[in-house]
Amino acid sequence: MPRGERRAEVLSRLASFPRPDFSFLDPRQAIPRPAPRSSSFAATSTPNPMTAVSRSSSTRSRSASADTGGAKAGARHIAVMDTTLRDGEQTPNVSYTPAEKLQLARMLLVDCEVDRIEMASTRVSAGEREAAQAITKWARKERLIQRIEMLGYTDGKKSVDWICDAGGKVLNLLTKGSERHCVEQLGLTPEQHRTKISETIRYARRKRLTVNVYLEDWSRGVRDSFDYVFAMVQTLRELRVARIYLADTLGVFAPTDVTRYVGLMAATWPAVDFEYHGHNDYGLATSNCLAAIQAGARGVHTSVNGMGERAGNTSLAEIVAATHDHSDARTAIREDRLTALSNMVETFSGKELSANTPIVGRDVYTQTAGIHADGDAKGGLYGTDLAPARFGGARRYALGKLSGKASLDHNLANLGIALSDNDRDLVLARIVELGDKKRIVTPDDLPYVLTDVLKTPEDQLVKVESYHVDVASGQEPRAQVALAYKGNVEKAEASGAGGYDAFMNALKKAAKQLSIEVPVLADYRVRIPPGGRTGALVETTITWVFEKSSQTNRQKTGETFSTLGVDPDQLGAAIIATEKMLNAVITRRPDSRPRANAKNTPRGASRTPRRRGTETKKRASD
Ligand SMILES: [Zn+2]
Repeated sequence: MPRGERRAEVLSRLASFPRPDFSFLDPRQAIPRPAPRSSSFAATSTPNPMTAVSRSSSTRSRSASADTGGAKAGARHIAVMDTTLRDGEQTPNVSYTPAEKLQLARMLLVDCEVDRIEMASTRVSAGEREAAQAITKWARKERLIQRIEMLGYTDGKKSVDWICDAGGKVLNLLTKGSERHCVEQLGLTPEQHRTKISETIRYARRKRLTVNVYLEDWSRGVRDSFDYVFAMVQTLRELRVARIYLADTLGVFAPTDVTRYVGLMAATWPAVDFEYHGHNDYGLATSNCLAAIQAGARGVHTSVNGMGERAGNTSLAEIVAATHDHSDARTAIREDRLTALSNMVETFSGKELSANTPIVGRDVYTQTAGIHADGDAKGGLYGTDLAPARFGGARRYALGKLSGKASLDHNLANLGIALSDNDRDLVLARIVELGDKKRIVTPDDLPYVLTDVLKTPEDQLVKVESYHVDVASGQEPRAQVALAYKGNVEKAEASGAGGYDAFMNALKKAAKQLSIEVPVLADYRVRIPPGGRTGALVETTITWVFEKSSQTNRQKTGETFSTLGVDPDQLGAAIIATEKMLNAVITRRPDSRPRANAKNTPRGASRTPRRRGTETKKRASD
């Protein structure tokens, strides 16, 4: 296929290229619900002692399916209790509205199939109660009420009454797991504390609540005094609580500690459902959680994106992937929904995730080095079990200085585009040039770069050698331009209503010296790739019109054509588009030939936004 025809075909394909779908980020959007699974928590809804819960654990060891990351027949089921809406909300400056909480609860329980969620602290605020009521109302209708938990305190009837009022059925009772916290913070002897715990639990049971118990600061408690912890657990067993939560509240454990002390707990009370609640102060939360599973914990506590106080909690995505790939256990979580869930929490919380966050970070499936892209093309040589499709992502190949032809080919193939070797080299050269400006060129930018390169006349005759634009508040914008054509360089200077207007006025002067006719600017449009990154490329399309006076009716008629520029800077993009216009005027090539009688209403022409402050741009001649 001749180069010109291929270009035309590629350009028409780019014009219809679909934009990425970000609608899942819209909190008003209803979350599509997967078909209900056969196993239901309704079967385990009796507020019942450990015996019932142990049975439920074994009956819930679902056969692993493809969407939870591959088959492990007969694997031990690990319950996941996600506390994004309670512990996760203790992240500084994070507060979810009741509507956001409901949306996240649905996504966690229904979409991702997390076993249980903790969604409120009792007695916090009226807003908290409102959110709790909305969620419990929904959960009752969906028969998920036993999977909604709320944190309460050893305060006699208060927390229990609050939960009942909010429509809840499960109390997660916060108790002291270390003697130091008991004595120094509460000012109670261990016996007094156990008495208060018994009172609250007995009242909760009268109110038909299921009771789980947190042993706060258990990690230091079990290390300092196993006798204290032993007495606590014996009491809780007698009170027939459903589960006991072993909290490393301050994130002080390392995996070897977890192996030792969770192992000790599981060996001492083999019938008790212990769940591990870790914090990430040493960056060890995922490792610790994995160690807890291997040491006999039957469940783990997580938060989406590891949100939580200080260094946060155990990341849901990380522990799910690690459990599936590094233990003989399974969770019920749908891995393929984890990225969407992470995005939603990122949006609602306003806490941006680092791009290199494992499993769900923006860059973790992006190959930067060309040699990796090349290896992927030759039989997945650089692939691991962390296949992006598992987590609802896709392998991406970065475009930049290091990327090379193989990365570009992967991205072109994703767009369904085949270029001539010559054009491919031009695109690659432009990507490297943009990369040198320290801009990240992403696959989202590629359609813009392609359009830019393919719309550049093959032989550039006129060149904007350099320009200098000054825009400052309270001063008239000024511009200097040096224009080169056929070995001559003409320099000119002018002012204007805006930075680009001043540039155009200077350009017209220089062009006149070179006998180049400059058409009138009719339309000026700016677009950035979806996603709204500040480092994104800017695409500027300018429509020009050659005005001709008709001798018969003295009306002006025009021939219009458009040129396009792509650059990290808006003014830079406009100047590239202008340079292309000059070349189109000179060459009148088929792909830039003026279209006769095209209707185009001038609107907003040359209305370049006037910026505050001083702006000076220089473009090195290339
Ligand atoms: Zn915590």
